[in-house]
Amino acid sequence: MAEINEQQILEALSGVKDPETGEDIVSAGMVAGVQLKDGHVAFAIEVDPTRGAQLEPLRKEAEQIVHALPGVLTATVVLTAERAGSQAKTAPPSPPAQTPSGQPGDQPGGAAKAAQMIPGCKSIIAVASGKGGVGKSTTATNLALGLAASGKKVGLMDADIYGPSMPRMMGITGQPVSDDGKTLRPMANYGIKVMSIGFLVDEDTPMIWRGPMVQSALEQMMRDVNWGELDVLVVDMPPGTGDAQLTMAQRVPLTGAVIVSTPQDIALLDARKGLNMFRKVDVPVFGIIENMSYFTCPHCGERSEIFAHGGAKAEAERLGCDFLGEIPLDIEIRTTSDGGHPITVSQPDGAHAKSYKFIAETVWNKIEQTLTARESDAPRIVIQ
Ligand code: ADP
Repeated sequence: MAEINEQQILEALSGVKDPETGEDIVSAGMVAGVQLKDGHVAFAIEVDPTRGAQLEPLRKEAEQIVHALPGVLTATVVLTAERAGSQAKTAPPSPPAQTPSGQPGDQPGGAAKAAQMIPGCKSIIAVASGKGGVGKSTTATNLALGLAASGKKVGLMDADIYGPSMPRMMGITGQPVSDDGKTLRPMANYGIKVMSIGFLVDEDTPMIWRGPMVQSALEQMMRDVNWGELDVLVVDMPPGTGDAQLTMAQRVPLTGAVIVSTPQDIALLDARKGLNMFRKVDVPVFGIIENMSYFTCPHCGERSEIFAHGGAKAEAERLGCDFLGEIPLDIEIRTTSDGGHPITVSQPDGAHAKSYKFIAETVWNKIEQTLTARESDAPRIVIQ
């Protein structure tokens, strides 16, 4: 069968009309980012964010029309608020206010906002990295499980929208259900609640997620999921330090952030970019975790430092933030995490689980310190 091309897709879409203006969505310049790969088609329809919900039928219609074209196997259409997003660039939203000074007029800090966004959630921490493939998701998972091992109520949210891996790492299949038709019940395994865009979208589905789209997906996963009582929500951020990550760091009411990096990553200064991103938006960085720090030979047990080991510790010192710990490059970490049985729960008494639990304890202490500092900074109502 002949390959479908962009022209044919646009022709088909020129029959879809914006119900408000009556103009077709192609002439109106609303169709963007058409992507084609082996019969899989994906594109975005750019809309005013205020019309998002009411344009769902339009999105569906466009999707059905393209799906019906010969040679199309799947069609994925998303509504994006890209236009509004680019306008927003000229007038960026104000960063989340931290209240170190406690000056009158300060906005509530991250903890208060966390409770506003997710009632019952005491704190939210981001696990971030300067680039992909450094073991950020593995670390986020084991950190969350380490926190749960010490009795905390933990949620894990996969915001790595470009490559959601939590369903696989947490060994969860199926889809979340809604009890009330309004909010989704999070999935759960190993004693923690988990939400990932990967539960809702097939792993093979091509997706176009632009900055504003990422943001709304993230906010939905926070607001429209019934998280219940949580001591901490661990957010696995998308890798990198681009606009999408910055917006996320700015809008999600983070109590703090943890940066995961490998020794090479440190050498390339990628971790520093991550750190600076959070500092820019006044989110406290709790520290750096060095992953794949050294290699332990599974046969002879000899430790090899493939990349200059210890760089993260030195870099953390240089940057004035804490070094939270190091995790070796170990095949067992990879197989357990990729197989859905993270090492912190599958080998809870092993050395790696102990390292993750130790890091989790340090992170928890920092969360508590931050919450206490904010509480004492918050304006008090004094009854005389
Ligand atoms: P990221 O989230 O940064 O893209 P992942 O957590 O998905 O990275 O990890 C990438 C790959 O590296 C996965 O296959 C994972 O199992 C593996 N991995 C992560 N950390 C380690 C480690 N310390 N030792 C061995 N393999 C690891």
